[in-house]
Amino acid sequence: MKAAVMREINKPLSIEEVPEPELQYGEVLVATKACGICGTDLHILEGTGYKPKLPHILGHEPAGVVAKLGPGAAKFRVGDRVVPNIFFTCGECFFCRTNRETMCTNFKGALGVGINGGYAEYFKAPAKNLFLLPAKIGFKEGSVIADAVVTSVHAVRRRAQVKADEVVVVIGVGGVGQSTIQIAKHAGARVFGVARRQQRVEVGAKFGADAVINSSTQDVGEAVKELTSGNGADIVIDNVGSGDTLLQALSAVHRGGRIVVVGETDDTIPLSTFKLCVNELDIMGSRSGGRQDTVEAIQLMESGVVTPFVSDFFPLEKINDALDALRQGKVMGRAVVTMD
Ligand SMILES: [Zn+2]
Ligand SMILES: [Zn+2]
Repeated sequence: MKAAVMREINKPLSIEEVPEPELQYGEVLVATKACGICGTDLHILEGTGYKPKLPHILGHEPAGVVAKLGPGAAKFRVGDRVVPNIFFTCGECFFCRTNRETMCTNFKGALGVGINGGYAEYFKAPAKNLFLLPAKIGFKEGSVIADAVVTSVHAVRRRAQVKADEVVVVIGVGGVGQSTIQIAKHAGARVFGVARRQQRVEVGAKFGADAVINSSTQDVGEAVKELTSGNGADIVIDNVGSGDTLLQALSAVHRGGRIVVVGETDDTIPLSTFKLCVNELDIMGSRSGGRQDTVEAIQLMESGVVTPFVSDFFPLEKINDALDALRQGKVMGRAVVTMD
């Protein structure tokens, strides 16, 4: 099969013929139809964050069609349209049994991150990690479910537990931020986006944010206070996770509020324990999403609550151009690799 192979850090991916994945018990071979491109791919390519064993096939936002069934994977049929939950977990540890799969202590890896993923004609996944993609959701939009939408569902519903009339500030209006805005609005919240560039400010407004703050020209804390009669936000969801954006989050959230960090970087939280205690802040991390989040992500897309903005399309052969476009900040929604 054709695949884009990561052989070295900081080098373009190499388009090669490689063997198809071999199926083990309970596994399914999926013909990739589309695969979203995520900022995490850039981090992995730079050698920061996750460090897969090389050579490796990236791509953690695929959707496709069942091509072959391994032994014990009979719940699917060849030709089924599917999208994966990318967290390959044991299903048996304390965290898996208490519906907190993303904390699995026998974690086998995430598809496209530690395990070969979707920048190839085929990928494989355990049948228990595959979900039927309804016919009304196209593969290009459907691919975005696996990471961006699932991550938003987990952050908004499991971690922040957004309620009606709460004020939610969403920092970062990229692929994850856009669906975060839509899901928080659906929960009945007032939602303000924060973006660094004017084009993204406009995108945030299109996705239903009540207002979008341009953090390169406005002070985020001041702007949020102005929008909330001086109160500040109940919740800040930070999809960037840098020292700078955490300072923005701390300035925007009110006393007793909650900050959910979704963006993963090596930066530390710029906060004294004194401020943490005096303000009774809840600061929590949020990591991807589990199978329940995947089911809800599919439902939210099927019912039209979440409409991913797939803005750029590239064939697999042009994947390095796609990664460059993302690196240069030229992608306004999600860039997707297509296989047709
Ligand atoms: Zn991602
Ligand atoms: Zn487990």
